[in-house]
Amino acid sequence: MNNPSSLTLHPSSLLLALDFGGTKLTAAVLSVDRQLKQPAWLAHKRIFTPAGTDARYELETMIALGHELLAGRPVTAVGVSFGGPVDHASGTVRLSHHVPGWHNFPLQQRLEAEFGVPVRVDNDANTAALGEWRFGAGRGVNSLLYITVSTGVGGGWILGGQSWRGHEGMAGEIGHTVVDPNGPMCLCGKRGCVERLASGPYMAQDYRAQVQGHGLATGKAVAEAAANGDVIARSILQRSAWALGVGIGNAANFINPQLFVLGGGVTKAGPLWWDEVRRAAHETAMPEVHFTIIPAQFADDAPLWGAVALVEGVQQ
Ligand SMILES: [Zn+2]
Repeated sequence: MNNPSSLTLHPSSLLLALDFGGTKLTAAVLSVDRQLKQPAWLAHKRIFTPAGTDARYELETMIALGHELLAGRPVTAVGVSFGGPVDHASGTVRLSHHVPGWHNFPLQQRLEAEFGVPVRVDNDANTAALGEWRFGAGRGVNSLLYITVSTGVGGGWILGGQSWRGHEGMAGEIGHTVVDPNGPMCLCGKRGCVERLASGPYMAQDYRAQVQGHGLATGKAVAEAAANGDVIARSILQRSAWALGVGIGNAANFINPQLFVLGGGVTKAGPLWWDEVRRAAHETAMPEVHFTIIPAQFADDAPLWGAVALVEGVQQ
């Protein structure tokens, strides 16, 4: 028998959000009130994956984590962020740069069979952009480019209020746009990419190349040395910010988004870095092209928030 009063209670949906990161697996269970549309976190757990892991281990661990956090409660949908190229339409992982065994893996299909509900999968740059746009620093704008600057440089677009993935899901790859064709060689085979100049490990590598015997291990160490007056560290940090700023200015000219949201470890480098990013970006863009560059709101959890946003509208 129907109970009419139950229809007026704004029943909530239970969502499972999964984040397959390069070195960690994170799961969360959220309750979404269908009228308020504001998710509440009910459970959250992160596991650091051991070295030498593979796709089978990651998938089995994540499924166990999901069931543990759900604790027998019925789930409405599962949103997934994956740290590597994904075909969003079919939910197939193309590959992982960090973990073997993910090549052409039907992740959406496998998780739908496991949990018996709709599953949506996207790559971590797109989900982080979606998470910052829906719940974080980018709330209320129509267009933004989210950029993560850490061990690499990646990006994801929100255009017209939705994810813009591009023809093959490769949109937003600002890290491998070239800002200095005569610059140093990047891992991708080109010279002077934004990532080659702006990312943490490359900054540390460039520092070591200039100061034999006095290496700094990370981008963070370079930023700290720069703040303490180390002239070489300062020039490397400034070049990182300049390269990113030129990339942003070019992206602004091409697409004219309202906002650039910057996340990742390198963005903690302080005002020297931020001032130069903004200066170079506005210098590169045409004077008629207006935009704002701001820090991300979420740190490591932006992709998880995006995984929630992927499925928050799914009704049971
Ligand atoms: Zn490159």
